[in-house]
Amino acid sequence: MENHLQRIVNPLLAWYETHRRELPWRRDKDPYHVWVSEIMLQQTRVEAVKKYYVRFIEILPDVQSLSEVPEDRLLKLWEGLGYYSRARNLKRAAERIVRDCGGVFPDTFASLLKLPGVGEYTAGAVASICFDEKVTAVDGNVLRVVARVTGSRENVLLPEVKKQMAAQLLNVLPDNAGTFNEAIMELGETVCLPGGAAKCGECPLSGVCTAHRDGLTSELPVRIKHMKRRQEQRTVFLLMAEDGRIAVEKRPDKGLLAGMYQLPNAEGFLTETEMRAMAEVWGIDVLEIIFIKEAKHAFTHLDWLMKGYQVRVSHSAGEFLWVTPKQLQEQYALPTALKPFAPFPTTAKTAFR
Ligand code: SF4
Repeated sequence: MENHLQRIVNPLLAWYETHRRELPWRRDKDPYHVWVSEIMLQQTRVEAVKKYYVRFIEILPDVQSLSEVPEDRLLKLWEGLGYYSRARNLKRAAERIVRDCGGVFPDTFASLLKLPGVGEYTAGAVASICFDEKVTAVDGNVLRVVARVTGSRENVLLPEVKKQMAAQLLNVLPDNAGTFNEAIMELGETVCLPGGAAKCGECPLSGVCTAHRDGLTSELPVRIKHMKRRQEQRTVFLLMAEDGRIAVEKRPDKGLLAGMYQLPNAEGFLTETEMRAMAEVWGIDVLEIIFIKEAKHAFTHLDWLMKGYQVRVSHSAGEFLWVTPKQLQEQYALPTALKPFAPFPTTAKTAFR
């Protein structure tokens, strides 16, 4: 199997030379640029990341500026990318680089791995691309290519399988490991696509690929999830005062969507009476409750099933922050999960007066 992977090195490097996409973070090998882009690319598609990356680097051009940015501003810049703990870890890592390393970016796999939010994949990508260290960077795209080329039927979601595949790759890594890592990721992102979408006819590895030869492309890689998703019902309140301002509140500093601003919401699908009781607890006089819509949002291990209501209230009260829709849009990073309910409902259906 190791020898088999050896056969992908030259065709892959030759292909990459002519097929690599021009991406904003590939203009240089600055570790700050590569690091920010790699963190953004976790869980988010390349096309979606481009505009976020360019704006982020314009506003926070280096480790120093990232270490100093207020958290609210950072979360606003990250708004739409989701998984906000990535942004917080970027800032924590920048603070550490400034404090402990005099602002100089760590330049080895081992030292990168110590930064908050940096796992083996990101450390491997930055160390190999920016500092020519001979280490692998194995993400889902790479695992897919390796599993298909070798015809492996192992479950790639198991850590030991991932480890084993990384070790096989390490054995064949050429001196220009960074370019090789970029090349295999690029192939996974643009040619060796998931499911039945692989473009084997355009693939430089089709001559050595076991899955292609044996017609197993849509079956590989094997990915068996054992985790059960949890579902949570929530009632979302778009509390709106007579002057048009909307209530928002900050979520706790730990846990899901930590520290983000949200529309007040409660667990369960509340009845009108329960909503009025909740408003009373908040010290709010309800004038009218209008159903907006239902929406669903998938987090990593949890789904929120939501019913949202516009609740017109006589005056801003309670321990909320009351903001205009414009302020909500421009200054507060509202989680994507709650965006279907803000700033104004468009599909009101039922009114309780
Ligand atoms: S030949 Fe097809 S399955 Fe094999 S690596 Fe290329 S795109 Fe993937």
